[in-house]
Amino acid sequence: MGFELTSKDYVEYLKKAYVKIHENGDYITSLDAATGDGDHWANINSGFGKLNEMADELEKLNLFDLFKQIGKTMMSVIGGSSGVLYGSAYLAAAKTLKEKETIDSPALCGVLEAMLDAMMSRGNAKPGWKTMIDTLYPTVECYKKCLADGVSEAETVEKVRQAALDGAESTKAMEAVRGRASYQTDKGVGHLDPGAVTMSYQIEILMDCVKEKL
Ligand code: ADP
Ligand code: MG
Repeated sequence: MGFELTSKDYVEYLKKAYVKIHENGDYITSLDAATGDGDHWANINSGFGKLNEMADELEKLNLFDLFKQIGKTMMSVIGGSSGVLYGSAYLAAAKTLKEKETIDSPALCGVLEAMLDAMMSRGNAKPGWKTMIDTLYPTVECYKKCLADGVSEAETVEKVRQAALDGAESTKAMEAVRGRASYQTDKGVGHLDPGAVTMSYQIEILMDCVKEKL
């Protein structure tokens, strides 16, 4: 038997992700100040902060309603490009969880893939364009490969976490095609993309939470 995440587990993850995002405020703000308009941390922090405040009511929802509620909240609270992108991502992920009471490993991969697809189509962006997609795309590719190759869940967690961290790091060398960094003369080359870094925090914490269930 592999891991299974309940709504309560996912809400625990949201709380831990908020802590990680919250404590990295100065760092993320400095990244977005270098390539964007400096508000990415404030945006994403307010979204996760709001979800944190709603934790007690959220954990009573089934997975479908939970993900829908997260999407709606992110869409309305986060603002900026990330609000719309995360909102669409969670609404798309909700659809993969209809009738499900828990999220097992293939379902978690499906959630991440639905998020990726929604972000790419909503943001009209592709991998390699220096955005949060450059974290999520390699994460999903890695997860799918682990499942296809029959890699153990313990090893999958480590590989997926590393893929996310490497993905975020890879944005440093990229030229921005979408997002505010694309308006800069250097296209943000030499700077990490803030959205890619906050996405890697989320995958990192999610994998930590999965690890506790193994
Ligand atoms: P805004 O760019 O509107 O100020 P944020 O500062 O909250 O919004 O988020 C910026 C992040 O959003 C970027 O670092 C990048 O990762 C991501 N991003 C921006 N535009 C797009 C897009 N079209 N597709 C995917 N990701 C994007
Ligand atoms: Mg911004």
